[in-house]
Order: sequence, then C-alpha cells, then structure tokens
Amino acid sequence: MTFTVAIDGPAAAGKGTVSKAVAAHFGFAHLDTGLLYRVVGAKVLQGENPVAAARALTADDLSAEGLRTPEVAQAASRVAVEPEVRAALVDFQRAFAARAGGAVLDGRDIGTVICPDAQAKLFVTASAPVRAERRFRELVARGHVTDLDTVLEDVKARDERDSARAAAPLKPAEDAVVIDTSELSIEAAVAAAIGAVEARR
Ligand code: C5P
Repeated sequence: MTFTVAIDGPAAAGKGTVSKAVAAHFGFAHLDTGLLYRVVGAKVLQGENPVAAARALTADDLSAEGLRTPEVAQAASRVAVEPEVRAALVDFQRAFAARAGGAVLDGRDIGTVICPDAQAKLFVTASAPVRAERRFRELVARGHVTDLDTVLEDVKARDERDSARAAAPLKPAEDAVVIDTSELSIEAAVAAAIGAVEARR
C-alpha cells in the first residue's frame, strides 16, 4: 500500500513537529525535504557547485552534522531558487513518497509539484512573529547566540525568497487543508493534522 501525506508551509510554522507526529500516528515513514536543500546549501558554503551537489546527494548526507544552523538555512533557500537544483532532487523525493507502507513528506512544494496526487495535503502556517519566536527559542535551546529581531528578519527573508521564486514557489495546493498554528498548542495542531489525514483514508 502506498499513501502519501504532503505537508507544506513556511519556515518554523510547526511542519516538522506535525509531520513527525502524523508519521508516528499512522506508522508512515517521514522525510523532511528541507534537509535536501540544506545539504546542498551546506556544500555550496564549502565551495561546491549547487547543481553538482544536488545530483550527488544520497540518503546518508541527510544525517550530516550542522545542517540546522541559520547560515545553512539561508544558503538552502538561495540554492532552492535554482530550477536545476530542484529538478535534481525530484526523483529522490518521489521514490520516498512511493514507498510501501505510507510516507509523510514535508517541505514547500510537496502538494503542488513533487506529489500533486498525494492522498492527503496539509498547509501548516502561522504568523511571522509567532514563527520567529518559536525558531528563536529553538536556536537558543541549541546554544546559538542570537536575538529575536535577527531571527524575525531571517524568517521574513526566507518567506520572501520562497514565495517569490518562479520555480515551485511556496503556496498551498488548491486541495490542501490549511492549519494555522499561531494560536494552537502542539497537541491541538497535531490533532487537527491527524484528523485531516484520517478523513482521506
Ligand atoms: O524546511 P527548511 O527550513 O529546512 O528548508 C530550508 C529551505 O529549503 C527553505 O527555506 C526553502 O527555500 C527550501 N525548501 C524548498 N522546498 C522544499 C523544502 C525546502 O525550496 N520542499
């Protein structure tokens, strides 16, 4: 049995938490597709060519250290603008989506471009200040020295680049269920997501 859940949305909206919880609830595998772009962004910071790095990507690269830094996030959103980089990452994502037993993929263009036929599509979002606050707490908890204004600027810069790009811009699929987590607890957001997926089974 294949069953694909596509979860898209902007940075720090709670996609990761919701996706992991949905995958655990239904016993599906989970792929955080942002990691693919982060791997390519990190390699570009080390001087590699983005398209060559995307073509050479393997599953092992996704567990590399240091992919969760703000610098790598910005580098990821810059390489993600390039159509050739995006094209080189399509097969990896579609193969994951088609695995037996069900899959949850989270990203920016899963419901629109990578898996337009996904059985369930969610768009998880929240206001920019709420997302910046969450990302700020996450970074501080991981020992990063930063301030809320810097994080808010980073979040807005990535939103702008992700939404304005010509190739696979960030937007909800027409048939996506939109979950705004601005005023939801984690438990409520997860329950809403599980309910939306359940309704499509
Ligand atoms: O989700 P995450 O913050 O890890 O993504 C890092 C960057 O990768 C995003 O800002 C976006 O530019 C890019 N990305 C993308 N398409 C995806 C996942 C991530 O363009 N499916």
